Amino acid sequence: ATPTALLVGTGRGAQLGILIKGPEVLESTRRIDTIVLDKTGTVTTGRMALAGVTLAPGEDRAEVLLLAGALENASEHPIAKALAVPGEVTQFTNLEGFGVRGRVDGHAVTVGKAELFDELPRELAEAKAAAEKLGRTAVVVGWDGRVRAVLEVADTVKPTSAEAVRRFVALGLKPVLLTGDNETVARQVAREVGIDDVVAEVLPAGKVDVVKRLQDEGRRVAMVGDGVNDAAALAQADLGLAMGTGTDVAIEASDLTLVRGDLRAAADAIRLSRRTLGTIK
Ligand code: ADP
Ligand code: MG
Repeated sequence: ATPTALLVGTGRGAQLGILIKGPEVLESTRRIDTIVLDKTGTVTTGRMALAGVTLAPGEDRAEVLLLAGALENASEHPIAKALAVPGEVTQFTNLEGFGVRGRVDGHAVTVGKAELFDELPRELAEAKAAAEKLGRTAVVVGWDGRVRAVLEVADTVKPTSAEAVRRFVALGLKPVLLTGDNETVARQVAREVGIDDVVAEVLPAGKVDVVKRLQDEGRRVAMVGDGVNDAAALAQADLGLAMGTGTDVAIEASDLTLVRGDLRAAADAIRLSRRTLGTIK
């Protein structure tokens, strides 16, 4: 490849809102056949909102929101932004990939996935199932050994994501949705944007293994992500693409940055590299 043609390619990239680490990146971009997409913050906006509260019998809504909110105030997860309220927390623990735990107002509080708790009372199990069918994440709240409530947290698919997926497919790429979130939620989001392949309930450290597994199957894998827990997978992928709206860690681990956080720019990057390199030998 001649350096001049490659540099023209990178110049167009800047116009399209794509930052490319170096001209050699275009070569790996061209050969990609699979594109793994992180869900939260990549396919969706990652701006979570509280969309519903279901209480266990006898529980108080204000108390649930206060204790859970104070605990989430100490968390940096996107879910925490929907729930956080000022409050004092001691013995805070981040249960990586599951939720958070700590002491608030004299209570031992846990907030997160249902797996952190014993069986849910019937009305809460129903609320959880209904929320997940809508693509919302069910966040369970408990303290002092009892399950108190299910909070529904809603994220929104970016308006550009479905079109981006159509463009990936048109380029001959196989899209895969990858998330730590629940399978039902992930399937609903996948359906909204037209993805068939879903890998859900992946622990933060497991995302890199999903990329490796696809590579072992002989695929050339692009990974698009925004979070701290995407960094290892972004570095492992044949091509790592970070959302410019994401964390610095993700951007540093990547070959390409989609400046505006618009997934369609990933399709532009692949088309650009194929066209640029197609003209030279
Ligand atoms: P993702 O970013 O793909 O959702 P994570 O590994 O960060 O993956 O989280 C996996 C799941 O764990 C979340 O979908 C949520 O159900 C739960 N979880 C993680 N952190 C929190 C938190 N601070 N509060 C509530 N639930 C959480
Ligand atoms: Mg994310």
